[in-house]
Amino acid sequence: MKLHEYQAKDLLRANGVKVPPGIAATSTSEAVDAAKELGGNFWVVKAQVHAGGRGKGRFKEVSSADVLSAVLAGAADVPGKGGVQLCRSIEDVETAAAMMLGNTLVTKQTGTDGVVVKTVLVTTGADIESEIYAAVLLDRQESKHVLMVSAEGGTEIEEVAESNPDAILKAHIDPAVGLGDWQCRQLAFKLGLSGAAFKDASRLFKGLYKTFLAADCSMLEINPVIITSEGEVIALDAKVDIDDNATFRQKALDEIHDSGEMDASEVEAASYNLNFIKLDGNIGCMVNGAGLAMDTMDIIKLYGGEPANFLDVGGGAKVEQVKAAFKIISADPSVQAIMVNIFGGIMKCDVIAEGVIAAVKDVGLELPLVVRLAGTNVELGKKLLEESGLPILTADSMADAAEKAVGATREA
Ligand code: GDP
Ligand code: MG
Repeated sequence: MKLHEYQAKDLLRANGVKVPPGIAATSTSEAVDAAKELGGNFWVVKAQVHAGGRGKGRFKEVSSADVLSAVLAGAADVPGKGGVQLCRSIEDVETAAAMMLGNTLVTKQTGTDGVVVKTVLVTTGADIESEIYAAVLLDRQESKHVLMVSAEGGTEIEEVAESNPDAILKAHIDPAVGLGDWQCRQLAFKLGLSGAAFKDASRLFKGLYKTFLAADCSMLEINPVIITSEGEVIALDAKVDIDDNATFRQKALDEIHDSGEMDASEVEAASYNLNFIKLDGNIGCMVNGAGLAMDTMDIIKLYGGEPANFLDVGGGAKVEQVKAAFKIISADPSVQAIMVNIFGGIMKCDVIAEGVIAAVKDVGLELPLVVRLAGTNVELGKKLLEESGLPILTADSMADAAEKAVGATREA
């Protein structure tokens, strides 16, 4: 679950991290009011989308196709104004907000379609002395959280990792002890900071980890953390991803979450607790268990087909979920055949067969459906499918099922 920058900054602020004052706005007049309320004579208007690289991104309505393809290619200098605009007057704020709201922003991370901007964040502009990079994430290899910083802030960290890996400093966090003050100071020292900035940065690092834990983040990235001309250390940008498995205890974040940028079928699937990811192929998959779902996609590809989705209905799927899964898969216009691949372990195959039959009767079936069942009560399950009178193709193995599904798409 991705948060917008303004939401992430509220979260950081609540956990003691310094961020510039800012107000979110959904209309030009709101943006102007926000700038007036913030006061001063320097503001930044920032498009709120779940994608990075906004500063270097460009808007569709006002950019040529060449400019947009340069953005997608990651060109360093692209003419025109992007999704982060520095404004020195209220009129500039008005112009920036009017151009952004309702317009489609294309960045290196959005793909060619871009994302429609519905909200902008108006913040007080900061004077930047230097920019650093900071992130907290899970290092799976070390089985520990890691705080990662680099003096090469502002630029894309992937580039730094490639061209100058030594410029990335890491502190692994012992789960029993937590992030030590000494670790934060060590990183601040290695970044070459001193005086007030040294102390402020150490405190900010601590706050980032506090936020990461409090909100069950899977990723928290601040690029850049800035050091102002007064030596203040502030989080200028914020990218936060919340672990979906923690949604049940992050209800407040779940409520403010903007699902507008997610694929509609993924939003629907999430409401039924289905693990669903939309893909580009033409064979819809319904599988129980993530591992089997991966295998199913592999075998479809082996037989020359392309999966239309990844779908794990879970170990103890109920008829309601099976029905929802069928609806979601059949609603996808690119799907030409459906492959059901279920291992009846905890759930018996006859129960699964009943679920599939009920779902097909309820949702209707206009596409070839191949079902492969294995496990407890498999014979009874197959018998139920055969006696249902529905045009369901049963398969004896995964290979058999994949071959039949791919064959069905060739006939379509
Ligand atoms: P991103 O492009 O999506 O990563 O958006 P950022 O929030 O990181 O902003 C991009 C860049 O805009 C930053 O790296 C800064 O160089 C610049 N920027 C953003 N806010 C300010 C600000 O308050 N003052 C100044 N001087 N520059 C800013
Ligand atoms: Mg940034």
